[in-house]
Amino acid sequence: MAVSQRDEATLEVGSLLPDGHHLIGGEWVAGRGGETIAVSNPATGELLASVPRGDRDDIAEAVTAAAAAFPAWRDTSPSVRGQLLLRWAELCREHSREIDVLERMEVGRPTWGPSPVPGIITFTAGLADKVTGQTLPSAVPDVVGMTLREPWGVCGVIIPWNAPGPLTVQDTAPALAMGNTVVIKPAEDAPLTPLLIAKLALDAGIPPGVINVVTGYGGEAGDALSRHPGVRRMSFTGSPESGSRVMEACASHLIPVHLELGGKSPQVVLRDAPLEKAIPTIVRSITLNTGQICAAGSRVVVDEKIHDRVVEGLAEGFEKVTVGPWYEQVDMGPLISAKQQERVLGYLESGREEGAKVIVGGGKPQGEPFDRGYFVQPTIFDQVEPDMRIAQEEIFGPVLSVLSADDEDEALRIANGTRYGLVSSVWTNDVGKAIRVARRIQAGQVSINTLWSGGVIGAPFGGYKSSGFGRTVSAESILDYTQTKTVVIDGRR
Ligand code: NAD
Repeated sequence: MAVSQRDEATLEVGSLLPDGHHLIGGEWVAGRGGETIAVSNPATGELLASVPRGDRDDIAEAVTAAAAAFPAWRDTSPSVRGQLLLRWAELCREHSREIDVLERMEVGRPTWGPSPVPGIITFTAGLADKVTGQTLPSAVPDVVGMTLREPWGVCGVIIPWNAPGPLTVQDTAPALAMGNTVVIKPAEDAPLTPLLIAKLALDAGIPPGVINVVTGYGGEAGDALSRHPGVRRMSFTGSPESGSRVMEACASHLIPVHLELGGKSPQVVLRDAPLEKAIPTIVRSITLNTGQICAAGSRVVVDEKIHDRVVEGLAEGFEKVTVGPWYEQVDMGPLISAKQQERVLGYLESGREEGAKVIVGGGKPQGEPFDRGYFVQPTIFDQVEPDMRIAQEEIFGPVLSVLSADDEDEALRIANGTRYGLVSSVWTNDVGKAIRVARRIQAGQVSINTLWSGGVIGAPFGGYKSSGFGRTVSAESILDYTQTKTVVIDGRR
């Protein structure tokens, strides 16, 4: 019998994960409260699975399991920890189809190529036994001072739904590599991929309790995790509003928090930009994952001399963006939920009301298969002014705002004129301008004639301003998963 495209990109969730369970202490555990949350496919509304609506008691159980596993994991040789992480990466590679398909089914995105999950774990595994302390200068010859890098203990990890696979390992892998244990609270909309990846960690031989997953809502399980006195460090990825609440909760028991928040990332297109490269890249940067990427290039700040050419090129590119369900060979799927669809449609309305001009899109696509899912059209607004809501607020959808600038200085003012500072791109063939603008943009990453890390391995990722603080995925950031202890030895009798 012929296998349809849909069958190939679909799997039986029940064959991978038991329905309605957390993963705590190496066991599948039902939620104590008994309530569950339905997880559905945003392209069709079909039910995929249910997960427990975790509460304070479930979090307490997971923190207890993680605390119990901590001493032995901390004392495991860093090289062995690295080998176990490598084995985990291998298993994720072997199961990359399941990880990819599960993620696509719960997020609703079409394929974007091989999952980055094994690569992130492999990179981190290599660092496990390379982190060292220092020896310190001493005023007395027989006194030796040194620093040790030690893990924090139990770390909490809260992630959003937009890329649950990579986001699960981005904080968890370095925490584990440095000898911490973790409790993950995935997003209520996409908790299945994190459960599968955590199960693969157990299969790889990472001991029970080192990695735990408690599902549930942010205001319940997420809040309980951030407040639990047994948690010694938090990593939060999500919106600035929730990040602020998590930071308050962490302040209540004085633990450090790493925040990876939203963005309104500018694509600065200068007069001498290589447009043949810039235009398709910008189109991709805001339509990939239906614009639900923190680093999405959601604002084009273009030199007015080339404005018309750029808008024409972008419009052509947007017209070609294909939209459909996760199993089709299309560029863009639906948004994650009805709530997110309403939010994006609200911004389309707001852009029109404030006087911006719709060039492409501007609403919902009609007919089958769009009526069943949370689809919106890829949309370009031109004649956007810097103070409009669509130029200031993170939409988290496939909506591009085009703003004109008279010169480089004005382009920089506009680029820096939001509360965000996650990533940015500068498009120019003039190396002098590239350096000047890169130095003056307030963002955690500036890419010249490319997007994001542009293929660089281990590029620190994280925000300036309200986009957060702390960095992930880099040799530097792994130190954040350790605390420094000074040891002084006085050798004199
Ligand atoms: P969100 O803040 O609503 O939710 C994110 C996570 O936080 C979810 O697991 C949620 O359950 C939990 N949460 C919500 N309120 C909480 C609370 N009071 N206490 C503890 N946990 C709580 O964000 P979202 O809408 O799911 O995700 C989109 C946002 O995430 C966007 O702003 C996007 O830019 C950001 N994001 C940032 C990065 C990055 O690396 N900087 C990556 C992906 C997404």
